[in-house]
Amino acid sequence: MGARIIDGKVVAARVRAGVADGVDAFEEEHDTVPGLATVLVGADPASHVYVGNKIKACEEAGIRSFHHGLDADVSQADLLTLINNLNADDAVDGILVQMPLPDALDQDPVVAAIDSAKDVDGLTATSAGLLAQGRPNMVPCTPLGIMELLDEAATEVRGANAVVVGRSILVGRPMSALLTNASATVTVCHSRTRDLGSVCRGADILIAAVGSPRMVQGDWVKPGATVIDVGINRTDDGLVGDVDFEPAAEIAGAITPVPGGVGPMTIAMLLRNTLGAAKTRRHSAVQAV
Ligand code: NAP
Repeated sequence: MGARIIDGKVVAARVRAGVADGVDAFEEEHDTVPGLATVLVGADPASHVYVGNKIKACEEAGIRSFHHGLDADVSQADLLTLINNLNADDAVDGILVQMPLPDALDQDPVVAAIDSAKDVDGLTATSAGLLAQGRPNMVPCTPLGIMELLDEAATEVRGANAVVVGRSILVGRPMSALLTNASATVTVCHSRTRDLGSVCRGADILIAAVGSPRMVQGDWVKPGATVIDVGINRTDDGLVGDVDFEPAAEIAGAITPVPGGVGPMTIAMLLRNTLGAAKTRRHSAVQAV
């Protein structure tokens, strides 16, 4: 294997320690700690695990959690009322609504109802628009964490050819905006892209965010490229990414593993966004972490 393995667990631990220090300083200044409200609708087991991990990470960083578990048959109106109450609650600095919502609920108005100052998931149109305009406020946690991993891998982003496979609101689109803002030349691919392999072969930075096990082949990787695998796919072989790891790692210069690459960064950046939201809301003098 030629590639350097980018260890997301190590980078995430560093970010979380920095957030914990920032929370201590914030508490000294404001006599209160940042608060994150989590909203979980229904009983999806994976979503329960994700939200549980987020609450635990908050506790470890000194951030207060306010959890709201709602039955799957909650009405759209009641869910919107909860969001409005959280918007008005001064103890709440960040609001996270765990997606996906049950089919009976309409996700877009729920996201739109979140106060953009508390949009720690970066999913509102205001957050997306500011990011697209190159003046980001709240940025989705997974792509934000990927920028940290590129930094960790000492990957030169400015002027690099970056290929992002996937154009979701959660990952692909904000990822392409962050890379554009960092002066990469960005190509965004999706399910209608022709000859995906040859597009990927031109990438100095290759980001796979598809949700298709081992789809990105080793011979799609440019020698020396940095490969970031966002995919989390449960297979009979266990958890695998969107990149065929072993052959890709023979050719890449640096690569993230699955698990242990991008995954740990998402929660770390949620904590950082929550502290950032608290500081902005209270005009804190605490230094950025
Ligand atoms: P998503 O909303 O399903 O989007 C998938 C994207 O991949 C779409 O843009 C789709 O294109 C594209 N795509 C699908 N098949 C393709 C193909 N054959 N060739 C090229 N593009 C194709 O997924 P997501 O939310 O972005 O998540 C992507 C993966 O990342 C999933 O495995 C998810 O579990 C994982 N994830 C991980 C983390 C983490 O913390 N590690 C966080 C979020 C997501 P169209 O737009 O044309 O349909």
